[in-house]
Amino acid sequence: MQFIQTIQNLREVLEDSRQNDLSVGLVPTMGALHEGHLSLIRKSASQNDLTIVSIFVNPIQFGANEDLKTYPRRIEADISLAQSHGARIVFAPSVLEMYPNNKPMTLIRNAQIESLYCGAYREGHFQGVLTVVAKLFLICNPDRAYFGTKDYQQLFLIEKMVEDLNFNLKIIRVPTLRKDSGLALSSRNEYLSEQDHLNAPAIFQGLEAAKKAYQKGESRVSFLIDIVRQSIELKKGQVQYIEIVDSSTLLPILDEIKGQTAVILVAAFWGKTRLIDNIELF
Ligand code: AMP
Repeated sequence: MQFIQTIQNLREVLEDSRQNDLSVGLVPTMGALHEGHLSLIRKSASQNDLTIVSIFVNPIQFGANEDLKTYPRRIEADISLAQSHGARIVFAPSVLEMYPNNKPMTLIRNAQIESLYCGAYREGHFQGVLTVVAKLFLICNPDRAYFGTKDYQQLFLIEKMVEDLNFNLKIIRVPTLRKDSGLALSSRNEYLSEQDHLNAPAIFQGLEAAKKAYQKGESRVSFLIDIVRQSIELKKGQVQYIEIVDSSTLLPILDEIKGQTAVILVAAFWGKTRLIDNIELF
């Protein structure tokens, strides 16, 4: 396992791998690795000769009042976890290495979707995500890159970027890993109090209840959204948004689901901790 911190060093190592015809898988993360991340790493290791795990807490995707400073960082533990689950390279550049001129002048945007859902509450977030992911793709030139469906809007935007800008790689979707309670694993779960840990599974319980109702024939959007909202509020969560969207366009479905492949997207707070989750209704 190699621990690499500079772009040049990584490019040199990857040049050797290319000459040996090794396939490359990339797993971009912000570190504080948990089982969800590890499932991405294992998947990549099973499909590629060489797996790179990038660890970079990307400042340009955090808003002014967000948790950039307090975001959990534990690089030593991450390196050993990544290694033991199949990573051959951990790439952990500094902020200066990635952004020598502070915020880059060139940014990648999705004009249609970036300001919806999470983007409506996190200005500039997806622009920061797409820009760093594009940089990582150009630095690593992977054959495949692995992303979790937990961050559904992010995944959609990355897939669109790859399509729109002709990146020569395949995006592999990896399903959300959950605790037994249903709570989606997330680095931000560490912020939850003990009590909120018990309450936060209400997000997924609500999503599952809405899916059941849909499968039994309920197709009214407002009705399905109410099921999720009630589940969250009953357990003292504060809903930020709940939307039902068409998975092929990520545009909202209004009034009624009429055969579209629909997904429910949700963000909710327990205390100051913001959690997101989603469920596909197909
Ligand atoms: P992050 O470190 O939060 O930026 O996440 C890095 C990658 O791990 C993203 O592609 C996430 O979607 C994915 N991920 C985060 N949580 C989970 C989870 N519970 N299950 C599967 N993938 C996840």
